[in-house]
Amino acid sequence: MKTPICSFDAKTGVLCAGCEAKLEAGQLTPTEIEIAIKLTRLAEREQEVNTLSMISAAKSGVDSVLFLRGSDISFLRSNPELLKKVETEFGGAVWFVEAQATDRRFMENLFFPSKVLNMNFFWLPDGKKLTRVLIDRRDPKNAIKTTRIQDIAKELRNVELIIEYGA
Ligand SMILES: [Zn+2]
Repeated sequence: MKTPICSFDAKTGVLCAGCEAKLEAGQLTPTEIEIAIKLTRLAEREQEVNTLSMISAAKSGVDSVLFLRGSDISFLRSNPELLKKVETEFGGAVWFVEAQATDRRFMENLFFPSKVLNMNFFWLPDGKKLTRVLIDRRDPKNAIKTTRIQDIAKELRNVELIIEYGA
């Protein structure tokens, strides 16, 4: 399991001088350390988690947002059982986003399995920028998910999201 901290640190929960310095310099956040430790703990029981690379991570309320390689995200999506184990370990919703994703890709990752048909920006008269995303279909079971996506977009990307549905 690769994480932004050394695997020894992640296993023991104690940071070495190098990782401590990164934390102080703001290259690592306390949330990333907490999540790296949690994932490493899970990887000790679940071999498949061991193959993942956590690039970075953040929290939005009780939800966790993990930034991974695109190939890791495909792997997780093809493995619902493993996804469930990750969510159980985290005790809340876990979102998977490709590291270094563009805003568009970021939205596509959050809305998956719904599709982002279009995305554009517009400005309100007061200069506030809004982002409008057109999603292929409304998921009636997922009203909460939509609200969470708006929170995550705002907190992590400073994007004010308006969601519209096609068809
Ligand atoms: Zn370290």
